[in-house]
Amino acid sequence: MPSRRSLIVVALLALLGVPGVARGVEPFRLGDLVVAPGSVGHGVLAVPAGSDGATEIPVSVIHGAQPGPVLALIAGVHGAEITPILALQAWAPRVDPAALRGTVVLVRVANVEAFLARSVRVNPVDRKNLNRVFPGRSDGSVTERIAHVLSTQVIPRADAVVDIHSGDAHEDLRPWTGYYAKIGGAAVIARSRAMAVAFGVPYVVEFPFAPRDEEPALYTGVVAVRRGIPAFDIEVGRLGNVEPDLVDLVAGGLDRLTRHLGMRDGALPPTPGLRFVRERVSVSAEATGIFHGRVRAGEEVAAGALIGEITDFHGRPAERVVAPRAGHVLFVLATPAVSRGEAIATIATAVHQEP
Ligand SMILES: [Zn+2]
Repeated sequence: MPSRRSLIVVALLALLGVPGVARGVEPFRLGDLVVAPGSVGHGVLAVPAGSDGATEIPVSVIHGAQPGPVLALIAGVHGAEITPILALQAWAPRVDPAALRGTVVLVRVANVEAFLARSVRVNPVDRKNLNRVFPGRSDGSVTERIAHVLSTQVIPRADAVVDIHSGDAHEDLRPWTGYYAKIGGAAVIARSRAMAVAFGVPYVVEFPFAPRDEEPALYTGVVAVRRGIPAFDIEVGRLGNVEPDLVDLVAGGLDRLTRHLGMRDGALPPTPGLRFVRERVSVSAEATGIFHGRVRAGEEVAAGALIGEITDFHGRPAERVVAPRAGHVLFVLATPAVSRGEAIATIATAVHQEP
């Protein structure tokens, strides 16, 4: 039986806690992980088998020694978009859990099969686009079950959600962030917008998407804002290329975002040349064949400007693709294969300096 004195010592130690760890910070549990305050854990979220096979989502948790918000960073929803995946690899080691206020949940690769198959847009197992099936379903095919796991195990745990994308393996893209400007209520919209601005790339797109309550969320961020959790998307990177400057751009933006959220110390200088995009127009192919691009992402185009030409497989002209309106090219198809109905470009048409 312990002495009265040893019981007092144990009680005092419990009161004081581990050195450097604030009282009241509990271990963070996620999937197979139990992460102590002031430490980092790596594990997986299980996606059980259904009509097709089981899979796993690799996750890490940086659990701060001090209390603070939970920030969920999701990469690899599109598996061939590699800049977001590499950016989390580059950024996570910079975060010192002993100094962190709050918790960062890193979804390293949401769509592992798509990443390993280098599959553009869709999961190779069920050919579904994870970025169109949220909130998912537990009895669906694998893409829907991945969405369900993220919607039930990651997003509800977070105080802020970031879905990190890039141009896909066939797309040139200029860096931008975007937030839902019409859903979630005024307070959530304002906080989402502030995060999208704090990330620090010059273009901030105001998504007009406003589904009715009974309509599916489709997108990660919509699941979040419908629950009152601010969210935004990052779009940095292009063409399946490893570009260290763009990986650094995302990592630097995550430094800024965690400072904005009060999770880490450091300066947050304003972004020069900040522009808000209120309207975009998309251009789709009307012909199938070989695309010859004539503009690059980031360029400004006039109405009627040539974006590219499509030839058939015999080299004969099939379509001249032109800009329907003047604006800034946010993304443009930049590899030759093209099918009728596919997106060729998105042009920001209403760009303004202030809201
Ligand atoms: Zn994407």
